[in-house]
Amino acid sequence: MQQKKVGILGGGQLGRMLISPAIDLDIELHFLENDSDAPCSTVSRNFHKGNIIDYQDVLDFGRKMDIISIEIEKVSADALEQLEKEGKKVFPQSAIIRLIQDKRLQKQFYKDNQIPTSDFVLIDDKEELINYLSKNQDKFPIVQKLGKDGYDGKGVQILKNLEDAKQNGFDAPSLLEEKVDIEKEISVIVARNEKGEIAVFDAVEMVVNEKYNLLDYLLAPANITESQKEESVRLAREVIEKLGNKEGIDGMVGLLAVELFIPKNNDQQGAILVNEVAPRPHNSGHHTIEASTTSQYAQHLRSIMNLPLGKTTLRSSAAILNLIGEENHTGKPFYEGLDKLLDLENVYPHIYGKKITKPARKMGHITILGNDIESLKEKIDKVKGSIRVITR
Ligand code: ADP
Repeated sequence: MQQKKVGILGGGQLGRMLISPAIDLDIELHFLENDSDAPCSTVSRNFHKGNIIDYQDVLDFGRKMDIISIEIEKVSADALEQLEKEGKKVFPQSAIIRLIQDKRLQKQFYKDNQIPTSDFVLIDDKEELINYLSKNQDKFPIVQKLGKDGYDGKGVQILKNLEDAKQNGFDAPSLLEEKVDIEKEISVIVARNEKGEIAVFDAVEMVVNEKYNLLDYLLAPANITESQKEESVRLAREVIEKLGNKEGIDGMVGLLAVELFIPKNNDQQGAILVNEVAPRPHNSGHHTIEASTTSQYAQHLRSIMNLPLGKTTLRSSAAILNLIGEENHTGKPFYEGLDKLLDLENVYPHIYGKKITKPARKMGHITILGNDIESLKEKIDKVKGSIRVITR
């Protein structure tokens, strides 16, 4: 294998977790990141300061690399397109990043390619929103999503009625989506290399805390039927192959997390809906570090470097708990209870090395392995009660 320089746009926790498999395969990883305190800053010698949404910064960085990839999709797609023209390998391809940056283009792609997704209309501004909803009052409650610049659920809201829409509706290009009565939210991570090989990880389930209606933990494998498993894998393969077809690209290269909704009362095959995708390592794949034959991070590197893809077999059931900053604590983080956690068998903390904790900020995650759901659940409760991210 020839030594290649791989440049990653973004130096956050997802980039940080690419470092370990890169060491094992002796891959020279470089990061472009504006925040000099970002998670990669303390663990990479090849940390380049620069703005990933700035055309010139991305171009200058990319020109020094052989292969360019991302760990976050909000980057200068124009610069990546220019790098492709100059003969650089950019994976995922710039046209795909551009498509995914805009939820409106993404939804339209599903529709144009007959990929099942919830019904939607595109709305340009608030005036059009109110106009449309006045004439379609039977559609409430309805989901409004900003086309661009939303993240982690911000930029997504449910409009209950016309009054609510008048008060709170986004006044920007957006999507209005039918509200799905969701039974389960699952995610499937799929990888594809330049040779066209595809490998799919088992579906992961987002388990919601009923009391607070918040994500509680992620469970792998998802507790779904065999036909739902097959359908989710089929959909993930279909999306990665069809992405980019329109742009003359022969299928996407890289790692893709496909977020899916299983609607309630869904017993017929084919009713699983695609919500959205992320063309990079994803929160729903952290467990693969310990629980799979190949981790999603190693798979990302293999796919963009056109290496054989790794097997995705799950060696064990697993749960992922997010470690988030406590309310009322902002400042230098202290991981209260970490010692006790390190005493537990089959519990693997991953601390992202962020310099500052803030309420609800993602500071790390904990993977728990177990043979069955019951023993996992017991351990989840134990872990939850034993660690807090606070300041002292
Ligand atoms: P983000 O990109 O900010 O994560 P998503 O599109 O994934 O936004 O939406 C965030 C959450 O909102 C989803 O995980 C889901 O729980 C809920 N949601 C999104 N779209 C719908 C929909 N059409 N119907 C019902 N709930 C939805």
